[in-house]
Amino acid sequence: MTAAREVSAGRCFAGRISGGEDLLAAFQDFCRSRGVSFARLEAIGTVRKARLGYFEQGSKQYQWLELDQPLEITNLTGNVSIRDGQPMVHAHLTLSDQEGRAFGGHLGPGTVVFACEFFLQEFLGEPLRREQDAATGLALWRL
Ligand code: ZN
Repeated sequence: MTAAREVSAGRCFAGRISGGEDLLAAFQDFCRSRGVSFARLEAIGTVRKARLGYFEQGSKQYQWLELDQPLEITNLTGNVSIRDGQPMVHAHLTLSDQEGRAFGGHLGPGTVVFACEFFLQEFLGEPLRREQDAATGLALWRL
């Protein structure tokens, strides 16, 4: 079954994140400081190092891949919704090395920006909320 809700666009931000910032923390801080709790996110740029999550479906645990090298952010796509009463940024990204090889996964803490440009599109109305889902082990949107 597919569940969905119609949403309307609110504010749109175009921004840049400084070198040395933690990418996930920077997005979280931006959302808190601007009062954004329901949004979609996209970004490109380059990182000094990265930490990517892979959700192992059998154990229902994240495995983490540490990439301690400069990489291009060829794509970052994410969303903002509410978890435990706070805005939560959930993003996935694809990174490439100097030979064009790609790595991808769930954006984890420990991904350090070299340079990053982003668009954040807010949605109006009651934000979607995440709740723990027993079947998947993930905190999923309640629709
Ligand atoms: Zn994820």
